[in-house]
Amino acid sequence: MAGAKTQHFEFFGPHGPAVLVFVLPLVCYGLIYGCNKESCLSLWPEFHLPSPPQNITFYSHEAMLAFVGYFLTVALLHVVLPGQRAEGVMLPNGKRLTYKLNAFRVFVLLYGAALYFGFVTRQLDLGWMYDNFPALLTASVIFSTALSVYLYASSFKRGALLSGHGNSGYPAYDFWMGRELNPRIGALLDLKEFCELYPGMIGWALLNLGLAHKQLTTTGSLSNSMLLVNAFQLYYIVDALWNERSILTTMDITTDGFGFMLAFGDLAWVPFTFTSCARYLVDRPQHLGPAALALVLAVKALGYVIFRGANGQKDLFRSNPNDPRVKHLKTLKTERGTSLIVSGWWGTARHINYFGDWIMGLAWCMPAGLTGLASIVPYFYCLYFASLLVHRELRDEHACRIKYGKDWDKYCALVRWRIVPYVY
Ligand code: NDP
Repeated sequence: MAGAKTQHFEFFGPHGPAVLVFVLPLVCYGLIYGCNKESCLSLWPEFHLPSPPQNITFYSHEAMLAFVGYFLTVALLHVVLPGQRAEGVMLPNGKRLTYKLNAFRVFVLLYGAALYFGFVTRQLDLGWMYDNFPALLTASVIFSTALSVYLYASSFKRGALLSGHGNSGYPAYDFWMGRELNPRIGALLDLKEFCELYPGMIGWALLNLGLAHKQLTTTGSLSNSMLLVNAFQLYYIVDALWNERSILTTMDITTDGFGFMLAFGDLAWVPFTFTSCARYLVDRPQHLGPAALALVLAVKALGYVIFRGANGQKDLFRSNPNDPRVKHLKTLKTERGTSLIVSGWWGTARHINYFGDWIMGLAWCMPAGLTGLASIVPYFYCLYFASLLVHRELRDEHACRIKYGKDWDKYCALVRWRIVPYVY
């Protein structure tokens, strides 16, 4: 069954993705080039371009086999381990899909095994992931590209339900956005939901662990900055896997198709760029003093209070507006039937939750960047995340303007700031 035709182009228009499919992998390699064992791009106190990395293997059969083996192991565990069943949102064809949810179980098994064999019995050299980082990145690029080609080709099968975002007729645009909404293998292996949470997020946690292991084996100890980066990001990953059900209502699952943007994002971008801080710390271990440690923890706590406070307030309001914790909030009744909160967290900025999320991301980068403000590479995540959130805010704003019409204008007049109060 065909879906709605794409009316609105993002990502620099119908031909923009033809460039992006090359640019994004280049950014991943650029991070390795820009910061490696030998040198690191430095901005302050002196500008210093990195020298070309020595002895780097960008492809190996071993890394390719390891990556494919890892992906298949995660898929097998997802299929064989028990999991709850949950229904997704109503699709444009009036049906709902059933999802099997066991991401947290798969994670516990793999992460637990890596911890035990890597750090307790020391039978597994997890530092291998650091030594083979560029080749593993190449494996993920090849794999996600091949998967995207398969997804694009298979979306032409009879009866495929297409996403209104990737059904433009421009091949590069549709390849990037994803034509088919919910490609599946069998009844329960939903490729998009699986890639969003399982191999990518778990892979990110495992890579971080491998980088910590490398620091431990080369220096004989783990720096507190490495521990903090691992702990902060692990918490974020565990939270996402534990609350797997909530992904079923996100834009990625309900509206976007499954194409290169998500396949590459899940399998290559997330694990290989979000680990920049931990990779930086392997080569430049840093021990934070009490003041720096307190600062990092305070920034993380501030971000967390805003992020959880805002998201919790909205979730509570949407599920029960009479709950005593949200009943006092001022609201704007809309013609659509729902109300928009205009006080509390949501009275400060229209996406104050994004601001909290970004501050938490800043705290992830600080342990690596604080003592060596010299390089921009440890701050890659929060720079990238700022651009992602600005773009996402524009997308949500566009969707809300369509949903709420002139009520949205009234809301914007009442809540002036988009993300950062008094700034943006
Ligand atoms: P939001 O949680 O902000 O949801 C936006 C929706 O909330 C709107 O479409 C609208 O839908 C409703 N809404 C907006 N304003 C109000 C209001 N004043 N009162 C009541 N309802 C309102 O956006 P996302 O789903 O994009 O993000 C969810 C979380 O995920 C965020 O915290 C974000 O930071 C995080 N995130 C993380 C990413 C990552 O890569 N780490 C990527 C993207 C997001 P309606 O009115 O129909 O209910």
